[in-house]
Amino acid sequence: MSYSIFCVGHPLIDMQVREAEDLLAKYKLNANDAVLAGVEHESIYEELVREHQVVYVAGGAAQNTARGAAYVLPPNSVAFAGCVGDDDLAEQLRAVNRHDGVLDVYQVKKGQKTGACAVLISNGHHRSLVTTRRSSNDLDEEHFWSPTVAPLISSAKVIYLEGFLLTFRPEVSISLGKKVSEDGKILVLNLSAPYIPRSYNTQIQEIAPYCDIIISNEAEAEAWAASNGHPDPTNMPAVAKAIALLPKANDTPPRIVIVTHGAHSTTLVSADAPDTPKTYPVQPLKEEEIVDTNAAGDAFSGGFLGAYVSEKSIDVCIQTGHRLAAMCIGQEGPQFKWPKVKI
Ligand code: ADP
Ligand code: MG
Ligand code: MG
Repeated sequence: MSYSIFCVGHPLIDMQVREAEDLLAKYKLNANDAVLAGVEHESIYEELVREHQVVYVAGGAAQNTARGAAYVLPPNSVAFAGCVGDDDLAEQLRAVNRHDGVLDVYQVKKGQKTGACAVLISNGHHRSLVTTRRSSNDLDEEHFWSPTVAPLISSAKVIYLEGFLLTFRPEVSISLGKKVSEDGKILVLNLSAPYIPRSYNTQIQEIAPYCDIIISNEAEAEAWAASNGHPDPTNMPAVAKAIALLPKANDTPPRIVIVTHGAHSTTLVSADAPDTPKTYPVQPLKEEEIVDTNAAGDAFSGGFLGAYVSEKSIDVCIQTGHRLAAMCIGQEGPQFKWPKVKI
């Protein structure tokens, strides 16, 4: 079996609306943020369907990354696991994964609904995410060791986890992380949203020793720094260094920390050279080239991982991440250019 990347996360369908300024005000949401739907947001999904033009696109952070990695790799390279309901939304996700070359191995909860994410686009290209997890929270550890899934994990070189997994029954992903790290696989964690390091810092501490690569954006890195009493939370090289030097369960490879920052340069710090951060400039897209920034970071991770399992140099991995992110920003939601172009 050739599957080299195995991703795990919450499979979500994105319900994307534009010109969402009024919705942001009504539901008291920030223009660039990601939150879990509370009772005060419950009505948003029906309101979107009732009063707005909704574009449905396949979403879910790690699932987006899986599709991104598949874009740059040969067929049968990327698998994705998560939990869905037995509804039409799950069928829509399967169809997109099939099209984009990702093998999905979903756990299915009978009688439940698949998770959804309201994606509110405002002022052209800001994006605010409000997620209702539904069945995506119910992924059981046994699923990983089932006859269809276990061989995919065992053949993979890289296991990718979205940080959202640490919010509910975190022991499921921490235990998977520990196991695959002990088996010598590369474990990659994305911090995924500022509220993860803000509210689930203990869970990050628990999984960090098994992580070989940690990816975040600037807001997540800053939130991590604030949660850990870092003296200089907006200094990305310094924060990346602190994350790189967190305790690690094995000696090799040295941990790599990558912090993206929208149109600003990406920072990379490796634990074996913590005082020599690398910065990689981003070619800012012109206003008219930007459709929306939903999933830019997920696409970056996908491009990075694809190049990484192809054993490209770390510089090429970052550049591939930037190129795939730029492509994603030029499409509606977490999508890439079809027919495929070389990246
Ligand atoms: P997230 O989506 O997690 O917030 P970022 O906003 O840091 O992640 O974006 C990830 C990557 O997407 C950046 O490193 C960059 O490559 C690309 N990107 C984001 N915004 C822009 C932009 N305005 N112009 C060009 N590239 C961008
Ligand atoms: Mg961003
Ligand atoms: Mg991100």
